This record gives sequence, C-alpha cells and structure tokens, in this order.
Amino acid sequence: MAHDGFISPAGNITHPFIDEDGDKLREECGIFGAIKAERAAAATALGLHALQHRGQEAVGITSFDGKDFISRRGLGHVAENFSSAEAIAELPGTMAAGHVRYSTTGGAGLRNVQPLYAELASGGFAIAHNGNISNAMALRKDLVGRGSIFQSTSDTEVIIHLVATSRYPTIADRLIDALRFVEGAYALIVMTPEGMIACRDPLGIRPLVMGKMGDAVVFASETVAFDVVGAEFIREVEPGEILQVDFEGNITSSHPFGKPAARPCIFEHVYFSRPDSIFAGQSVYEARKAIGTQLAIESPCDVDLVVPVPDSGVPAAIGYAQRSGVPFELGIIRSHYVGRTFIQPSDAARHSGVKRKHNANRGLVEGKRIVLIDDSIVRGTTSLKIVEMMREAGASEVHFRVASPPTAHSCFYGVDTPERSKLLAARMELEAMREFIKADSLAFISIDGLYRAVGSKGRDKACPQFCDACFTGDYPTSLTDLSLSDRKSDELPFVDPKAA
Ligand code: SF4
Repeated sequence: MAHDGFISPAGNITHPFIDEDGDKLREECGIFGAIKAERAAAATALGLHALQHRGQEAVGITSFDGKDFISRRGLGHVAENFSSAEAIAELPGTMAAGHVRYSTTGGAGLRNVQPLYAELASGGFAIAHNGNISNAMALRKDLVGRGSIFQSTSDTEVIIHLVATSRYPTIADRLIDALRFVEGAYALIVMTPEGMIACRDPLGIRPLVMGKMGDAVVFASETVAFDVVGAEFIREVEPGEILQVDFEGNITSSHPFGKPAARPCIFEHVYFSRPDSIFAGQSVYEARKAIGTQLAIESPCDVDLVVPVPDSGVPAAIGYAQRSGVPFELGIIRSHYVGRTFIQPSDAARHSGVKRKHNANRGLVEGKRIVLIDDSIVRGTTSLKIVEMMREAGASEVHFRVASPPTAHSCFYGVDTPERSKLLAARMELEAMREFIKADSLAFISIDGLYRAVGSKGRDKACPQFCDACFTGDYPTSLTDLSLSDRKSDELPFVDPKAA
C-alpha cells in the first residue's frame, strides 16, 4: 500500500544557483538511495541536498518501512520540502530513495515528480531515474495499444509498464527484461519489497556511484552526496551493471547487456558535476583546471588579467592563469541572492536577469585588457551581456575563451538543451559568434584538447571514450523518437545569423 502525501507547491520558486536567462545547459536530475540505513529518509534528504545543482524544480522521496511504501513530493528545493523533523518522520524505514529534477520528457507537474510508484503483481515498485529514454514515445504508443494506462507523462513510466507486463518470474529479471527494450540514457534506483536495485545504461551515459555508510549501502549521482552524508565512496556503478542489494546488505552484480565500450557524458567534467565530486575516476575540479591549462596552450591571449565568469568558469580560469602566467582576478562578482522565476517570458527579461546576477568589479578591470573564461556558450545571450558589462566598466580589451568545444547539437540524454536552432554554435561560424558576443577575440578548446585534459590521449574517432554528441553530433545510441517525429533528424532549420 502506498501513501502519496503531496506537499503543497512552494509557490513562486526562486533559487540562487542557476543562471538567470536559461543560457546554460541544465542537468535534469539527481538521484540518491540508501538501504539498511537507520534513518534512510534523512540520509536521502541530505544526499539530495548535495545534488541540488542537478535539479531545482521538484523533489521526491519514497521510503519502505518493511510493509508499506510511503512517498512525499514537492515543488522547489530539498530544504523547502524535507528539512523538518516532521517531514522526515513521515518517511520511516531502512530503505529510501529520492530524486531532484528539472522537467525532462513529460514536463513539469507533481504527477511527474519522482520516484514514480506502482503496485505490481510482485508488490510495490518505486523508481528514480536520471537520464532520458530516447524511444519512450514509441514504447508508450505500443504499451497503450496493448492496454497500459499511464498515470504520468514521464518517460520513466514506460519502464514500470514494461516491468509490469514482463513474464519473467523475479522482479530483477523483469527489470532486466524491460531494459532490453529501452534506448537512451538511464541511471536508475529501484525499490521493491526485496530490496534496492541500482543500474546504469550499457554506455554509462549518466553517472551513478556506490558507497557505504556504516552498514548501509548508498547510491548517488555524484560522490559529493557521500561526503555530505558521511559515506565512503566505493566505486562507480559500472555501465550496464545491475546491482541488487537486499535488506541484509548483500550485493549481487550482473551485466546482462554485455560490456560495450562506455560513453559517459563528458559535460559532467565541463559543467554538470560539482567540482568537489569525482567523476570517471578523476577529480572534477582538477579536470576543469586541466581544461583551462589546455585552453591556454591552444589559445593564449596577451592580456593583463584572467577573469572567470562565475561560478562555473572559475577552475578553468585558474588553470588558464597558472599556465599563461597572467594574474587571476575576480573581475565579475556574482550575487548569490538573486531570485529567479522559472518562466522568463521574453528576451528582455532574460537580459535583465544577467545584470541582476553579475556585476563588474569596476576598480579592477578599468583600463585593463582582460580574457574572460566561461565553461560553455549555449545561446550566447549571457556572454554578450557579460562582454558589454566589462566594456562599460572600462576594460580596454575583452577577449573570450571557452572551456568546451562549440555546443552545436541538442542533448537527448536527459540534459535540457535549447532546440538546435537556438544554439549559437549551430547558427554561426566562429567569427560570426565573436561578432555576436562583441568580444575582441573568441576561442573554444578543441575536442581533442578536451579529451586530453580529462585524461585521454585524444578523441578516439572510431570509438570515442565519452559521449560528446552536443559538440560533435555523434550520438552514441539510436534516437528513435526523434526519427519518428516531424523533425526527421537533428537537422537545423535555416536561421539568418544577421537576425540573431
Ligand atoms: Fe552529455 Fe552532451 Fe552527451 Fe548530452 S549530448 S550526454 S550533454 S555529452
């Protein structure tokens, strides 16, 4: 029996963490789970709090008390919904899993807030998913045709229906059977009356790690969640691995889909993961500094100051400054107390948002030649405003260096990307982009340079070591829903750059 205690919406949601104008790629979800934990829901709330940067629109936690599954969900931040002792007390049991999200497939609304829950013939089934199923629409159509009745518009729900209709005897085998039909990216934490199952898609596109917290086994999207709850990082859940944990803490591992070469998302290193996390065996902070170092090697600049675009450009700017021997200075100060409504109705509102968030450190930059370092350029509107702000503050030259290759393709693996026609790099060549953001010079790190910075010898064209599709257009899975949609491909509608 499941109790679904909805928490009242947080109202006009504001938060200080993400950009004002929608001019960043946004990781869509973070997940956390704990089993054999004394206060599983409290650990889950704390773990999700550390993953808040991965999704700030809504949060949910489901616990299992040995008999019942209990769910609570709410709009807004973890702290708004799960910081009180009363909220945690409503989620008893030694097993819990939770989810923070932006809306991916399916859009906003409480009915899409995860973990999703269903009563199956085998008992309760709760699922938290980070990623995006790229054939969800096709699967859903087929399932509806066979009589399934969907409760949400989330892509994740197709997994529940595939599990429900599988004829295998055990719940783990039913899940494996279901995942055979699923393409795209998924990191999953599943709860059943028999325990917890954690798994990643065969290419490991989205991250998932395993840790120990005393006798408890914990899973999270990033290692930073383990630091916060006092857990020890054990290892990554391997791409394609299905890990089952029972209530005694016994762990069994299988790879039912073989072991194809992994393709984890390289953008985790560039921007999504917190810099204090370990991703793909490497410190994210160190990787970002190395990206800045490589950027300085590839695209040096004769300037007086290296200035990061806060906060995500900071580690790369440190690497750039150290390599080039130019002073690193905070020429832009970021307000951490700027509210943001989720809907920015117009470009004008977007632009004012940039100014409210960033302010020039005028005394520092006046009369100086500066190079700005940012992690990426998406639409380009933020970059333009920041360059203009630096000029208004008296900088004599404003150069721009970007710690990722041009983002020219949309992501279909659980990251909120504007449609391709809105991506600056999909619309323009380098010189036109420079003109658009009004910089004195503009350069991006090369794709090979990015690979070298994160510990590879360079991009292996025949078998790339990461997913890098938003830079290269080389999608590592089929994109069935896209190929069935009106847009026959990732093709770009013609946009006149002059009209930008
Ligand atoms: Fe990551 Fe880009 Fe691949 Fe999406 S397309 S998974 S953002 S590398």
